[in-house]
Amino acid sequence: MKVLLVFAHPEPRSLNGALRDVALKELEAQGHEVRVSDLYAQGWKSEVDRADFPLLAPDARLVPVAASKKAFEAEALTEDVKAEIEKLLWADVLILQFPLWWFSMPAILKGWVDRVFAYGFAYGVGEHSDKRWGDRYGEGKLAGKRAMLIVTAGGWEEHYSARGVNGPIDDLLFPINHGVLYYPGYDVLPPFVAYRVDRFDEAAFEPLAERLRERMRRLGSTPPIPYRQQNGGDYLIPSMQLRPGLGEAGATGFALHLNDAREAFRQAGE
Ligand code: FAD
Repeated sequence: MKVLLVFAHPEPRSLNGALRDVALKELEAQGHEVRVSDLYAQGWKSEVDRADFPLLAPDARLVPVAASKKAFEAEALTEDVKAEIEKLLWADVLILQFPLWWFSMPAILKGWVDRVFAYGFAYGVGEHSDKRWGDRYGEGKLAGKRAMLIVTAGGWEEHYSARGVNGPIDDLLFPINHGVLYYPGYDVLPPFVAYRVDRFDEAAFEPLAERLRERMRRLGSTPPIPYRQQNGGDYLIPSMQLRPGLGEAGATGFALHLNDAREAFRQAGE
């Protein structure tokens, strides 16, 4: 397979840097073709601004959605963004790797998403009708490809458990897994999360590295998170609400958007 790893850590000698090298070595040993976008090393520009839209007249009001649409259609996005889109189209698997910063991804990676996931490419795709609401959530230009997060966190695993004070890790990562990756069509694999890493030492590293190698070996076979397909019949159109009767009684929130294979998935998971 062709794998793109997008790396968002400012220090190559960090734990993240070491884990990245473990992942890359294992992927190459498995015969995969690998490319890396090292955002800090590339000097990635994270903010969306007028410079992203060379077609925009100097006195025109910047409407980011409209400008993104026009630039994508005219193939007039900036060269750095076009290069990342080309890598995404090339890759069968996308891996985003980052330290959890304020319960989310570092700003540089969010800025990569903001700029690279352009209108017409990652959103604003497909027709809207009484049967479909665009090509998104399981459909879209990146459908058929796989994606996965590699995340390190300072907090304890228990603090991210179902009743943990930080909130469940699956909920915290839902906006990235479901909102960023599933939205344009990726099959999203369960994340690899390393907890309590700030107190890490040499002895703890090898077991963690082996756990990561194991995930890399199963990159092509791990079952994806069973999110519901938007246009698969589970949602009312146009309200896009889950149909009455689906999901557990009284349930609200992110878990509603997992389909009924959830239990089987949990058992098959990590
Ligand atoms: P490093 O700092 O590079 O290393 C961590 C430890 O691993 C060190 O002790 C280091 O000596 C050791 N180490 C590094 N490389 C190796 C190696 N090759 N072999 C053995 N040991 C090694 N945490 C949360 O849980 N939730 C949050 O919301 C959150 N927000 C944060 C916000 C900010 C702005 C910052 C700076 C941190 C935040 N953290 C949070 C903590 C953060 O997630 C961790 O600091 C980060 O995941 C550590 O990863 P790193 O690659 O930077 O580790």
